[in-house]
Formats: sequence, C-alpha cells, structure tokens
Amino acid sequence: MSLRPTRRRIPRLLALLGLAALPLLAACETAPGTGRSIFTGGMSAADETELGTREHRKIVPQFGGAYADTAVTGYIASIGDLLARTSETPNTKFTFTVLDTPIVNAFALPGGYVYITRGLLALADNEAEVAGVLAHEIGHVTARHSAERYGQTVTANVIGLGLGLLLGRGPATDLYGAVAGVALRSYSREQEYESDLLGVRYMARAGYDPGAMASFLSRLRAHSRFESELRGEPGKADRFDIMQTHPRTADRIARAIREAGAKTVADPITARDRYLDKIDGLLYGDNPSQGLVRGRRFLHPGLRFAFEVPQGFRLFNGAKRVTARGPEGATIAFERAKRAARGPMTAYLTQVWAEGVRLREVESLTINGMAAATGFARGRKGGRGRSGAVDLRLVAIRTDPQTIYHMIFETPVRLTAALARDLRETTYSFRRLSAAEAARLKPRRLRIHRTGAGETAAAIAAAMPFEDHRLRRFLVLNGLARDQSFPAGQRVKTVTE
Ligand SMILES: [Zn+2]
Repeated sequence: MSLRPTRRRIPRLLALLGLAALPLLAACETAPGTGRSIFTGGMSAADETELGTREHRKIVPQFGGAYADTAVTGYIASIGDLLARTSETPNTKFTFTVLDTPIVNAFALPGGYVYITRGLLALADNEAEVAGVLAHEIGHVTARHSAERYGQTVTANVIGLGLGLLLGRGPATDLYGAVAGVALRSYSREQEYESDLLGVRYMARAGYDPGAMASFLSRLRAHSRFESELRGEPGKADRFDIMQTHPRTADRIARAIREAGAKTVADPITARDRYLDKIDGLLYGDNPSQGLVRGRRFLHPGLRFAFEVPQGFRLFNGAKRVTARGPEGATIAFERAKRAARGPMTAYLTQVWAEGVRLREVESLTINGMAAATGFARGRKGGRGRSGAVDLRLVAIRTDPQTIYHMIFETPVRLTAALARDLRETTYSFRRLSAAEAARLKPRRLRIHRTGAGETAAAIAAAMPFEDHRLRRFLVLNGLARDQSFPAGQRVKTVTE
C-alpha cells in the first residue's frame, strides 16, 4: 500500500495525528523564479546544492550512467547554459547531464542539476524542442519545486510514521525512501504551469520559439501512447515516463505561452539541421552494456548470458531487473541475486532467497550445465486491478561461484497449467553467451536519412531492425500521423544496427 499525501491534505492529517505543525511552517522560503513563498523543509540554497550533489551521484547510475559522447553532451549543456543565463539566477551553476537510457524523460534535482535522457533526444525534432524541455526543467529549479518536493518528503515521512503507529504496523519507512522515487514523483498541475511560464520566458529571451514546447508535447504524447500499447496497458503512462512525472496538457502550455508576457521572437531559432547533425549516430534503445532486448530474447553481452521468453510475452529491460509481460497479467521477472552462496542450490533457494516462504515441489536442476533449483508457491495478490490467486515458480541459477540469477514466473492460477510448458522452455533457454556471440551484438543507432523522391515512410520503416511495429515506430520517431511519401531530400530519422 502506498500513501501519497497531497499538499492540501497535509495540515488536516497533521491535526488528526496531533502533530505540531509549527516547525514545518517555519520552513517556507521564497522561490527566485516566481517570487512565491514555498515550503522547502527549511532548506537553504547551500543545502540544496549539497543535497543535489549528493543525490546526483546516486541517481546517475540508476538511469544507465551519463551518456559518454561528449559531442552530444557538450551540445546539450551549451543549450542549457544559454537558457540558464536568461533566468532570474543567471549566476547559479547548472549541471546538465544526458542519461544513457532509452527511457523518455527529463527531470531536475535541487542545486541546479538537470537531466535529459537520450531516449528523449531521439524523439525531438530540433534544437528548439530540446530547449523547451531544458527551459521547463530550469523553471522547476528556479521556482524551487525540486527543493519543495524534498521538503514535502520530510512531511510525508512524518505522516507515514504517525499513521504507522496509529495502525500498529510500525514506521512506514519505505514511503518515498528511494532517491529515484523523489526525483520521479509527479509535479502538481500548478507547478507544471509555473515551470511552463518560466520556461517560455527563458526560451523567448534566448531566441527560441516557445511554440516548440507545444509541438514537442504532441510527440511525447504519441510516444507514450505507443509505449503503453506495447506494454498491453493502453492509456496508462509508465511511471518512468515524462508524461507521468510532468503532467501537462497542450491547453495549459498554450495558456502559459500567452500569459508569460514574453516578447514575440523575431526570426526564432529552430535549428533543425544542426540538431539532426548532432544526434546522427546516437545510441538507440538499450546500451549493450545494460543488456539487449531482441524480440523475445534477452541477451547480455557484458554478463554473457541469454534467455528467451514465450510467444505472447514482451520484454522490458529495467535498471534492476528484466521483466516480461504476458497474457492476463502473467509475468516473468529476471534479476541478479544480491549475493551468491555456496552449497546445493536447493539450500540457497529455500534458506536464502525464499527464506520463510512455504515452497512446494523443490527440486534441483541442471540448466545447460549450470546448477539450479526450483520451487513453487501459491499466493494471493492484493491491490487494484489484477488481484487474486497467483502461482509463483521460482528458479535460481548459478552461473559461477560469485553469481546467481533469479527467474520468477508469476501466473494467474487459472493459467498456470496452460503456460507450464512455455515457462519450462524459458527456464531451459537460459544459457551462457560465447565471447564471439557477445562481440557480434551491436547496439542500434539513430541515423538521419535523406529521402529519395516518392520514397514512403513504410519503405524506410521496413528496413529498420525491429521485429514488429516498424511503421508505427518510424512514425512516432518522426512525429508523423500516417504513412506518406516524401519529396526528394527531406531529412528523417531512422534506426540501424
Ligand atoms: Zn515539469
């Protein structure tokens, strides 16, 4: 269960819990961007910088690390610096980081840390659209929304503790424990509007067309919609997606542009050609060092293993685990064990990994020469939507004395028998990759393609190295609504291997 107190509910909850609100009230400060008084939990500008610096080190590895191509990262930082110099705090040091992940997102930490993913860069059409994203994030910093969120986290933890004691469950310490959890929490609509207002102001001052903010939003929407369909959850944004963390609408952006009072930019910068030149060759999709999804196969050239999931399952490569979603909520999760253990794998399974769980049908296995063990449990899953009885099949595989991997098959009880054979095949598909196989795995890259006269979107898309939805992927990548033929010499984005 997760408690998600909103700002409005906080004072009432505090009153209910009989907690003194006084120390919290003293923690309001003025945000330079908006001049508005905000609640930061007593965080000074120096505190913000210190917090940001500390969190920066933790958050970068959680999103695949910093993208290594300095031609790209230097370019993005130069756009960010140009915008930041037009802000209310032109002398504040901003740090712009391109994160090496296919996730489409941008966010900010207190102390001027702004992040943008290479997944987002691949989706943008020109420099002005990226400037719009950076300007919006700078707005979150100068309006001190990022600091405000940390202030709220303190309050949330206070409340969590209180409720926990009331309900006799002990302190709810995991409320917003993870750093990424705070960075990825949604802003309020009011905060989004403030950041758009500020972002429009910075864009106009730097010479960009603020309208690029709105044009990029429609690309983000189309991308989010497609991703949610791929996941089999149409209309539901992924929690790591920018549409989830920055809830914005075209209407409100249009209103921000009108109300920002920014002067109309004569001859605004769009810089499409410059932008496309810079992102030509950008890594697309997974970085091989994080493992690659290729259709129903997952291959990790660095850790040198591979496995394949059944037909009807779709793989997602996450920072901590690989997940495959199948029919009716059936899932396969794959992760590396925190620590390895010596001795029989059945002992590891029952005494270390699943300690305290009543496992049935425990047996030891040999999977492609590797020691493994499996066990079965039936449980009940709570929560909204897919609740009910589920079967869990656990498989632990030791690839070397230091490394154990976990596979967790979760199936609705009524599907377990029907999927048993498929899941068994997935278990036995786990194998080591040879050095030669690993070396052959190349990342996909974004390429800028110049169209020939009459060339169609479908024809260009057909050459992209994807197993499915090639045309749709091409259209989303290029912000197009439907198949069309191009005139000679138009520049479009495509993906190659
Ligand atoms: Zn935002």
